[in-house]
Amino acid sequence: MDKKLLPFALRDVPRYTSYPTAVQFAGDFPPVLADKWLASISPEASLSVYVHIPFCQQLCWYCGCHTSVPNSYERASRYVDLLIRDITRTASLVGGKKGRVQHLHFGGGTPTYLADRDIGRVLAAIDKGFGLTADAEVALESDPRTLTPERASTLAQFGFTRISFGVQDFATPVQMKINRLQPYGLVAHATEFLRRAGFSSVNFDLMYGLPGQTQESVAKTAWQAAELQPERLSVFGYAHVPWFKKHQKMISDADLPGVSERYHQARVIEAELRAAGYLAIGLDHFALPGDPLATAAANRTLRRNFQGYTTDVSDALLSFGASAIGETPQGFLQAARDTLNWSERIEAGENPVTRGLELTAEDRLRARIIERLMCDFTVDPAALAVKHGFAADTFADMPEKLAEAVSAGIARIEGTRISVPHEHRLFIRNVALVFDQHFQPAPNRHAKAV
Ligand code: SF4
Repeated sequence: MDKKLLPFALRDVPRYTSYPTAVQFAGDFPPVLADKWLASISPEASLSVYVHIPFCQQLCWYCGCHTSVPNSYERASRYVDLLIRDITRTASLVGGKKGRVQHLHFGGGTPTYLADRDIGRVLAAIDKGFGLTADAEVALESDPRTLTPERASTLAQFGFTRISFGVQDFATPVQMKINRLQPYGLVAHATEFLRRAGFSSVNFDLMYGLPGQTQESVAKTAWQAAELQPERLSVFGYAHVPWFKKHQKMISDADLPGVSERYHQARVIEAELRAAGYLAIGLDHFALPGDPLATAAANRTLRRNFQGYTTDVSDALLSFGASAIGETPQGFLQAARDTLNWSERIEAGENPVTRGLELTAEDRLRARIIERLMCDFTVDPAALAVKHGFAADTFADMPEKLAEAVSAGIARIEGTRISVPHEHRLFIRNVALVFDQHFQPAPNRHAKAV
């Protein structure tokens, strides 16, 4: 790696799936205010729904998600009862006409940890409470080890058309080091029966920076993954935060590739996927030409939300489940992260939101700039400032703040427009950071840029 890039690669940067980022949300957010925001959603507003299922069959050592391995299914079953109570309560607050849900996403954890009947119960509650549009995108994250051809058919009958699962790396020695044994044949078989069941879109997650990975192993995995022709792939760098995620202590620091190797692994994966015909989308996504994500990227209508890059343009995001984050026109709402706290609040008939943030006009402007940078790799902050009712010279200090990035070749400034060249897409968050006025450097709060 060019040594000019090293300080940027080593910098802690947020993922910018929202601005301000979740660490800025205030604790002790009043549940009655959350209710008020939900009740004020326009009766005509289009809706997106996110459901968080914080359970898995087995813990992968690299996992950074909010999840756990229950010792009995009863815990999950009780969780579903409470989810349904919260969905019903929220539906009575939101009101308005039914049939406004354009996107529905089950994330986790492993949503398919739930039995089909429980997934069906949650879906029925959402449909009864808010109603799905006829062409709603209904998606779920899954672990292919939890799937069978019969389950795939049932999920397709429920209306799911998109599925995403973690592949990470096909090399057995790497899989052993991360406690996720999932052979290529299993993934290939699952992909095949999901398509037969009617799933029109399959997404694989790949990772770099895992213990035991090399440039050769990630290249082979990328090539094998592309052979299965998933419509989309996401490629994430492993974030080693054992002080925050205790199970990551199972991964030895000595097994982890250094920053330069991580950078090259990311570049090698990108080269393999592009050679296989995939288009690079945003910071870390790839899609086949013609995929809606690729079309949105080409049209500059791509969006970024808590699930990553998306075509979702809904007016409000309703979220259900422990730790889940929603968004209303006023700002962000996050449910209690602790499942016990979340359960107690719902049992008490309260809104389970414990954290939130009301957006200011300036937050909205900066959020828009950061989103366009993350999606388009180019933005004219002065033009957006004027559009949002601010002075054209609001960001007059940007050339000074970006001087180091410009000299490293990561950013370019032409007039008032800022761009990041494609070969430096891994550093887009370093440039976005310049527009983040809430960012407070703190050790171990965010992952490294690479
Ligand atoms: S299946 Fe996914 S959510 Fe569950 S432990 Fe593994 S990485 Fe984490």
